[in-house]
Amino acid sequence: MTITVVGIIGYTGRMGQAIARSIESHPTAALCGGVTRKQTLSEQHENSPLIVTDNPEELFPHCDVIVDFSHPTVTPMFARIAAQHGKAFLSGTTGLEEEGYAVLKEVAEKIPVLHAANTSLSLAVTRRLVRQAAALLKDLDYDISILDKHHRWKKDAPSGTALTLGQSALEGNEGTHEPTYASIRSGAIVGEHDVLFSGAGETINIQHTVTDRKVFARGAVQAAVWLAAQKPGFYAMDDVLGV
Ligand code: NAD
Repeated sequence: MTITVVGIIGYTGRMGQAIARSIESHPTAALCGGVTRKQTLSEQHENSPLIVTDNPEELFPHCDVIVDFSHPTVTPMFARIAAQHGKAFLSGTTGLEEEGYAVLKEVAEKIPVLHAANTSLSLAVTRRLVRQAAALLKDLDYDISILDKHHRWKKDAPSGTALTLGQSALEGNEGTHEPTYASIRSGAIVGEHDVLFSGAGETINIQHTVTDRKVFARGAVQAAVWLAAQKPGFYAMDDVLGV
Protein backbone atom coordinates (compact mmCIF):
# COMPACT_ATOMS: atom_id res chain seq x y z
CA MET A 1 0.00 0.00 0.00
CA THR A 2 1.39 3.42 -0.99
CA ILE A 3 1.24 6.09 1.70
CA THR A 4 0.98 9.72 0.55
CA VAL A 5 2.88 12.11 2.81
CA VAL A 6 1.16 15.47 3.19
CA GLY A 7 2.40 18.87 4.43
CA ILE A 8 -0.08 21.62 5.26
CA ILE A 9 0.38 25.37 4.69
CA GLY A 10 -1.84 27.24 7.14
CA TYR A 11 -1.34 24.44 9.66
CA THR A 12 -2.64 26.36 12.70
CA GLY A 13 -5.72 27.71 10.87
CA ARG A 14 -9.31 26.46 11.05
CA MET A 15 -8.92 24.44 7.84
CA GLY A 16 -5.32 23.41 8.54
CA GLN A 17 -6.37 21.76 11.80
CA ALA A 18 -9.44 20.12 10.24
CA ILE A 19 -7.21 18.67 7.49
CA ALA A 20 -4.65 17.40 10.03
CA ARG A 21 -7.49 15.54 11.84
CA SER A 22 -8.82 14.17 8.58
CA ILE A 23 -5.39 12.79 7.61
CA GLU A 24 -5.24 10.91 10.96
CA SER A 25 -8.24 8.82 9.93
CA HIS A 26 -7.26 8.37 6.26
CA PRO A 27 -5.96 4.87 5.42
CA THR A 28 -3.31 5.95 2.87
CA ALA A 29 -2.31 9.49 3.94
CA ALA A 30 0.21 10.56 6.56
CA LEU A 31 0.99 14.02 7.89
CA CYS A 32 4.62 15.16 8.08
CA GLY A 33 3.94 18.67 9.34
CA GLY A 34 2.91 22.17 8.46
CA VAL A 35 3.91 25.73 7.74
CA THR A 36 2.44 28.64 9.63
CA ARG A 37 3.34 32.25 10.43
CA LYS A 38 6.16 32.72 12.97
CA GLN A 39 3.85 34.44 15.48
CA THR A 40 1.59 31.37 15.62
CA LEU A 41 4.45 28.94 16.45
CA SER A 42 4.57 27.73 20.06
CA GLU A 43 6.60 25.46 22.36
CA GLN A 44 4.06 22.72 21.70
CA HIS A 45 5.08 22.81 18.01
CA GLU A 46 8.79 22.62 18.91
CA ASN A 47 8.15 19.44 20.91
CA SER A 48 5.90 17.90 18.28
CA PRO A 49 7.08 14.83 16.31
CA LEU A 50 5.82 16.71 13.23
CA ILE A 51 7.80 19.41 11.41
CA VAL A 52 5.91 22.60 12.29
CA THR A 53 7.79 25.62 10.97
CA ASP A 54 7.55 29.03 9.33
CA ASN A 55 10.13 27.88 6.75
CA PRO A 56 8.75 25.79 3.86
CA GLU A 57 12.30 24.68 2.93
CA GLU A 58 12.39 22.62 6.15
CA LEU A 59 9.12 20.84 5.37
CA PHE A 60 8.65 20.43 1.61
CA PRO A 61 11.50 17.92 0.97
CA HIS A 62 9.72 15.44 3.29
CA CYS A 63 6.31 15.61 1.55
CA ASP A 64 4.70 14.04 -1.52
CA VAL A 65 2.04 16.74 -1.70
CA ILE A 66 1.58 20.22 -0.23
CA VAL A 67 -1.94 21.26 0.81
CA ASP A 68 -2.39 25.04 1.07
CA PHE A 69 -5.24 26.67 3.04
CA SER A 70 -3.59 29.94 3.98
CA HIS A 71 -3.86 33.41 2.44
CA PRO A 72 -4.13 34.49 -1.22
CA THR A 73 -1.11 36.82 -0.95
CA VAL A 74 1.25 33.92 -0.10
CA THR A 75 -0.21 31.01 -2.08
CA PRO A 76 1.73 31.87 -5.31
CA MET A 77 5.05 32.01 -3.41
CA PHE A 78 4.41 28.60 -1.80
CA ALA A 79 3.40 27.16 -5.19
CA ARG A 80 6.73 28.26 -6.67
CA ILE A 81 8.65 26.66 -3.78
CA ALA A 82 6.65 23.42 -4.21
CA ALA A 83 7.62 23.45 -7.90
CA GLN A 84 11.32 23.92 -7.02
CA HIS A 85 11.04 20.79 -4.88
CA GLY A 86 9.01 18.89 -7.50
CA LYS A 87 6.06 18.37 -5.10
CA ALA A 88 2.35 18.27 -6.02
CA PHE A 89 0.47 21.38 -4.85
CA LEU A 90 -3.21 21.54 -3.86
CA SER A 91 -4.62 24.93 -2.91
CA GLY A 92 -8.01 25.55 -1.34
CA THR A 93 -7.17 29.19 -0.59
CA THR A 94 -9.78 31.59 -1.95
CA GLY A 95 -9.59 35.23 -3.02
CA LEU A 96 -6.60 34.70 -5.37
CA GLU A 97 -5.93 37.57 -7.78
CA GLU A 98 -5.53 36.84 -11.49
CA GLU A 99 -1.73 36.92 -11.12
CA GLY A 100 -2.04 34.26 -8.41
CA TYR A 101 -3.92 31.93 -10.76
CA ALA A 102 -1.36 32.67 -13.47
CA VAL A 103 1.43 31.46 -11.16
CA LEU A 104 -0.50 28.26 -10.34
CA LYS A 105 -0.94 27.61 -14.09
CA GLU A 106 2.73 28.37 -14.76
CA VAL A 107 4.03 25.93 -12.14
CA ALA A 108 1.50 23.31 -13.35
CA GLU A 109 3.89 22.77 -16.27
CA LYS A 110 6.35 21.25 -13.77
CA ILE A 111 4.16 19.73 -11.02
CA PRO A 112 0.55 18.54 -10.56
CA VAL A 113 -1.52 21.49 -9.28
CA LEU A 114 -5.14 21.54 -8.16
CA HIS A 115 -7.04 24.64 -7.11
CA ALA A 116 -10.55 24.37 -5.64
CA ALA A 117 -12.47 27.14 -3.89
CA ASN A 118 -14.57 24.38 -2.36
CA THR A 119 -13.22 20.89 -1.72
CA SER A 120 -16.58 19.43 -0.66
CA LEU A 121 -17.15 16.38 -2.83
CA SER A 122 -20.85 17.13 -3.35
CA LEU A 123 -20.22 20.63 -4.67
CA ALA A 124 -19.28 19.07 -8.03
CA VAL A 125 -22.83 17.65 -8.16
CA THR A 126 -24.30 21.05 -7.19
CA ARG A 127 -22.32 22.75 -9.95
CA ARG A 128 -23.66 20.27 -12.46
CA LEU A 129 -27.26 20.95 -11.34
CA VAL A 130 -26.67 24.71 -11.69
CA ARG A 131 -25.19 24.26 -15.17
CA GLN A 132 -28.18 22.14 -16.19
CA ALA A 133 -30.81 24.54 -14.76
CA ALA A 134 -29.13 27.51 -16.45
CA ALA A 135 -29.11 25.65 -19.77
CA LEU A 136 -32.80 24.76 -19.48
CA LEU A 137 -33.77 28.37 -18.61
CA LYS A 138 -31.45 29.91 -21.17
CA ASP A 139 -34.17 31.42 -23.42
CA LEU A 140 -36.57 32.47 -20.64
CA ASP A 141 -36.93 35.72 -18.69
CA TYR A 142 -35.35 35.08 -15.29
CA ASP A 143 -32.60 36.34 -12.98
CA ILE A 144 -29.74 34.32 -11.45
CA SER A 145 -28.81 35.45 -7.93
CA ILE A 146 -26.12 33.78 -5.85
CA LEU A 147 -26.09 34.23 -2.08
CA ASP A 148 -23.22 33.04 0.08
CA LYS A 149 -23.26 32.92 3.88
CA HIS A 150 -20.07 32.43 5.90
CA HIS A 151 -18.57 33.05 9.34
CA ARG A 152 -17.57 36.54 10.43
CA TRP A 153 -13.81 35.89 9.88
CA LYS A 154 -14.07 35.11 6.16
CA LYS A 155 -12.14 37.77 4.29
CA ASP A 156 -13.25 37.48 0.65
CA ALA A 157 -16.73 38.28 -0.70
CA PRO A 158 -18.33 36.96 -2.81
CA SER A 159 -16.86 33.61 -1.78
CA GLY A 160 -14.72 31.62 -4.21
CA THR A 161 -17.47 28.99 -4.26
CA ALA A 162 -20.11 31.59 -5.20
CA LEU A 163 -17.93 32.67 -8.14
CA THR A 164 -17.46 29.03 -9.16
CA LEU A 165 -21.23 28.48 -9.09
CA GLY A 166 -21.67 31.64 -11.18
CA GLN A 167 -19.18 30.23 -13.68
CA SER A 168 -21.22 27.01 -13.88
CA ALA A 169 -24.39 29.03 -14.59
CA LEU A 170 -22.60 30.92 -17.38
CA GLU A 171 -21.36 27.64 -18.87
CA GLY A 172 -24.96 26.37 -18.88
CA ASN A 173 -26.61 29.44 -20.43
CA GLU A 174 -23.65 30.40 -22.64
CA GLY A 175 -23.58 33.88 -21.13
CA THR A 176 -27.19 34.90 -21.81
CA HIS A 177 -27.87 35.78 -18.12
CA GLU A 178 -25.13 37.18 -15.85
CA PRO A 179 -25.47 36.16 -12.18
CA THR A 180 -25.50 38.77 -9.42
CA TYR A 181 -23.93 38.12 -6.00
CA ALA A 182 -24.72 38.87 -2.37
CA SER A 183 -22.77 37.83 0.75
CA ILE A 184 -23.56 37.56 4.44
CA ARG A 185 -20.76 37.28 7.04
CA SER A 186 -22.19 36.28 10.39
CA GLY A 187 -21.33 34.22 13.49
CA ALA A 188 -19.76 30.83 12.84
CA ILE A 189 -21.61 29.76 9.66
CA VAL A 190 -19.31 27.24 7.94
CA GLY A 191 -20.60 27.73 4.38
CA GLU A 192 -24.00 28.03 2.68
CA HIS A 193 -24.71 28.83 -0.98
CA ASP A 194 -28.04 29.48 -2.69
CA VAL A 195 -28.35 29.79 -6.45
CA LEU A 196 -31.74 31.34 -7.22
CA PHE A 197 -33.31 31.25 -10.66
CA SER A 198 -36.20 33.73 -10.35
CA GLY A 199 -38.84 34.39 -12.98
CA ALA A 200 -42.23 36.13 -12.76
CA GLY A 201 -43.94 34.61 -9.71
CA GLU A 202 -41.59 31.63 -9.21
CA THR A 203 -38.10 30.74 -7.98
CA ILE A 204 -35.94 27.64 -8.21
CA ASN A 205 -33.38 27.48 -5.40
CA ILE A 206 -30.39 25.14 -5.65
CA GLN A 207 -28.81 25.10 -2.21
CA HIS A 208 -25.56 23.65 -0.89
CA THR A 209 -24.95 23.75 2.87
CA VAL A 210 -21.90 22.66 4.83
CA THR A 211 -22.30 22.47 8.59
CA ASP A 212 -18.90 21.01 9.46
CA ARG A 213 -15.40 21.88 8.12
CA LYS A 214 -14.72 18.14 8.10
CA VAL A 215 -16.53 18.06 4.76
CA PHE A 216 -13.94 20.38 3.12
CA ALA A 217 -11.09 18.63 4.90
CA ARG A 218 -12.14 15.12 3.81
CA GLY A 219 -12.44 16.26 0.18
CA ALA A 220 -9.07 18.04 0.34
CA VAL A 221 -7.30 14.93 1.67
CA GLN A 222 -8.94 12.67 -0.94
CA ALA A 223 -7.93 15.13 -3.66
CA ALA A 224 -4.36 15.45 -2.30
CA VAL A 225 -3.84 11.67 -2.34
CA TRP A 226 -5.15 11.58 -5.91
CA LEU A 227 -3.05 14.58 -7.01
CA ALA A 228 0.23 13.14 -5.71
CA ALA A 229 -0.12 10.32 -8.27
CA GLN A 230 -0.82 12.59 -11.29
CA LYS A 231 1.43 13.97 -14.02
CA PRO A 232 2.17 17.71 -14.06
CA GLY A 233 -0.93 19.70 -15.06
CA PHE A 234 -3.67 21.96 -13.74
CA TYR A 235 -6.55 20.01 -12.21
CA ALA A 236 -9.96 20.66 -10.59
CA MET A 237 -12.17 18.69 -8.16
CA ASP A 238 -14.16 17.41 -11.18
CA ASP A 239 -11.00 15.57 -12.29
CA VAL A 240 -10.64 13.90 -8.87
CA LEU A 241 -14.25 12.71 -9.02
CA GLY A 242 -14.12 11.83 -12.71
CA VAL A 243 -17.17 14.01 -13.54
P1 NAD B 1 -7.49 30.84 9.10
O1 NAD B 1 -7.29 32.31 9.19
O2 NAD B 1 -8.13 30.11 10.24
O3 NAD B 1 -6.08 30.13 8.81
C1 NAD B 1 -5.11 30.66 7.93
C2 NAD B 1 -3.78 29.97 8.17
O4 NAD B 1 -2.85 30.46 7.20
C3 NAD B 1 -3.16 30.24 9.55
O5 NAD B 1 -2.49 29.06 9.98
C4 NAD B 1 -2.13 31.32 9.26
O6 NAD B 1 -1.03 31.31 10.17
C5 NAD B 1 -1.65 30.87 7.85
N1 NAD B 1 -1.03 31.97 7.13
C6 NAD B 1 -1.56 33.17 6.82
N2 NAD B 1 -0.62 33.94 6.22
C7 NAD B 1 0.52 33.18 6.18
C8 NAD B 1 1.85 33.39 5.71
N3 NAD B 1 2.20 34.57 5.20
N4 NAD B 1 2.76 32.39 5.83
C9 NAD B 1 2.41 31.21 6.37
N5 NAD B 1 1.16 30.94 6.84
C10 NAD B 1 0.25 31.92 6.74
O7 NAD B 1 -8.32 30.61 7.76
P2 NAD B 1 -9.20 29.34 7.32
O8 NAD B 1 -10.63 29.55 7.71
O9 NAD B 1 -8.51 28.07 7.72
O10 NAD B 1 -9.17 29.51 5.73
C11 NAD B 1 -7.95 29.50 5.01
C12 NAD B 1 -8.26 29.66 3.52
O11 NAD B 1 -8.99 28.52 3.05
C13 NAD B 1 -9.13 30.88 3.16
O12 NAD B 1 -8.70 31.41 1.93
C14 NAD B 1 -10.53 30.30 3.05
O13 NAD B 1 -11.39 31.06 2.22
C15 NAD B 1 -10.19 28.96 2.40
N6 NAD B 1 -11.21 27.91 2.56
C16 NAD B 1 -11.35 27.05 1.52
C17 NAD B 1 -12.23 25.99 1.62
C18 NAD B 1 -12.32 25.02 0.47
O14 NAD B 1 -13.15 24.10 0.50
N7 NAD B 1 -11.46 25.13 -0.54
C19 NAD B 1 -12.99 25.80 2.78
C20 NAD B 1 -12.83 26.69 3.83
C21 NAD B 1 -11.91 27.75 3.72
